[in-house]
Amino acid sequence: MIWYPPILTYHRVHPDPATDTPTLSPMVFARQMAQLAQRWHAVDPDALAAWLERRGRLPARAVMVTFDDGTEDTYTQALPVLARHRIPAAVFMIADNVGRPGFLTRDQLRALHGHGVTIGSHTVYHAYLPSRDRDQVRRELVDSKRFLEDQVGAPVDWLSYPGGGYTAEARRLAEEAGYRAACTTNRGTRRWPIDRWALRRITMHASSASPAAIWLRCSGYYNTFRRLRAPS
Ligand SMILES: [Zn+2]
Repeated sequence: MIWYPPILTYHRVHPDPATDTPTLSPMVFARQMAQLAQRWHAVDPDALAAWLERRGRLPARAVMVTFDDGTEDTYTQALPVLARHRIPAAVFMIADNVGRPGFLTRDQLRALHGHGVTIGSHTVYHAYLPSRDRDQVRRELVDSKRFLEDQVGAPVDWLSYPGGGYTAEARRLAEEAGYRAACTTNRGTRRWPIDRWALRRITMHASSASPAAIWLRCSGYYNTFRRLRAPS
């Protein structure tokens, strides 16, 4: 079997779980990152993009860490842990939310970038792309990319489809907009062949808190387990 680097999706890292967004407590997040640093090789999104473009190699046991939405705890809670373990990551920011209460500010985005965190786009308005027309999809992809590049002062190469929703047209427009790769959510169990414009990810919930959870999710066993539970 060819190794497919697991991509983990985090949302909020916060002591207060009272929200409809998947949230991990800072303690659980710190423990998971310590485990990751010990047994896995967290790779830079740039390295994964190069590998997807068949221009580079990945280390054994490669994993990528991602955050969706760009809530401010990505900076206040997650960044110190990532920096402590030297874990690279991608943060997918909703462009229109930059500087809004509870979300990352321009300075925080720049600070994350300065610490080696890759800033990606999560569209302008967190749009569920399958329900938008072509021009709207194009604007969501192109405008968010431009805006975030201007905010961060660096290229925005990665995209994450809000709600994991994409269409054949959205993929094509993502490529046309100049992204290098796009992430969806974990839909279905088939991870091979790898689709650079719809990379499947593993969502981390509070229920992923047990010490075995991260190992289970990073290893192939998780997919086997999912397949047994929910044949598709
Ligand atoms: Zn989202």
